[in-house]
Amino acid sequence: MLERYQKILESDEIPYFLEAKSKSDDDYTGRGTEELWHLHDQQLKEGVPSLELKEELADRMLQNCHFCERRCGVDRKREEKGYCGVTESKISSEFLHLGEEDELVPSHTIFFSGCTFGCVFCQNWEISQREGGKDIEPEILANKITGTRAKNVNWVGGDPTPNIPYIIEVLKHLSKPTPQVWNSNMYLTGKSMDILAKLMDLYLTDFKYGNDECAKKLSKVKNYTEIVKRNHLKAEKTGDLIIRHLVLPDHLDCCTKPLLRWIDNNLDDPKVNIMTQYRPTYKAKDHPEINRYLNSHEKREVRRLKREYPHLV
Ligand code: SF4
Repeated sequence: MLERYQKILESDEIPYFLEAKSKSDDDYTGRGTEELWHLHDQQLKEGVPSLELKEELADRMLQNCHFCERRCGVDRKREEKGYCGVTESKISSEFLHLGEEDELVPSHTIFFSGCTFGCVFCQNWEISQREGGKDIEPEILANKITGTRAKNVNWVGGDPTPNIPYIIEVLKHLSKPTPQVWNSNMYLTGKSMDILAKLMDLYLTDFKYGNDECAKKLSKVKNYTEIVKRNHLKAEKTGDLIIRHLVLPDHLDCCTKPLLRWIDNNLDDPKVNIMTQYRPTYKAKDHPEINRYLNSHEKREVRRLKREYPHLV
């Protein structure tokens, strides 16, 4: 578990982004997008693709936004807004987080405004559903990261997905050998996952649902299970995996149990954090089954599940 991450902390490996930076030596601007993707695939097969190539591809994706599977197709360079409402990246807050998993603390957590999901029970809705936040120049953020004692940089939101081009800009200015953590709902397109491959060292994922109906009803997303499962399989090919699952009231049989079964049967060596601190907030009052805390029977069942999957938790 977390082998790559630990090696970086012990200085036995360098984070991917530093290697990607060392390969940046070409001008990609005049070349066709297909050709650049082909080149990126090839570089990915052979090692770590150049950061400049990732930057150019991410920049082109902005003009027809398909960073997440909502695929809005808006031109964010012209300030057109899609579902997430993000045009330029805005930062709601950034600080040393002491409440993450033990291995990650202290974590320099960067909270972006805006989200690709519309969860009715969002535990973080003041950030995810807000279009406010600060403009921070990438170079300034890189300097802040350099000046802290954080073990890692933790890109989160809302969701970090709409902000991939900005994150690459920050990494261009960063030279501190700090592991990069992608903290996300994992509803990214395959192309976005390719850009993150060998850029992020650890995926800290939020696996919410065990079926598509619950995802559609509570987060307003389509094809949830196919997309999120695909992306977990992609993520583990190049990075470490910590999977978080927040247990929802009345959703143990339809969500918690099937997704744990899938993780156990399909992923190699993830760490799973099954969380029971759900509180009814935001629009949960419109959905009676989740408009309450977990009851004692559900908490007991979670304890039993942890005993059933001791190798995961
Ligand atoms: S990142 Fe935002 S604008 Fe782009 S496809 Fe997703 S929701 Fe739409």
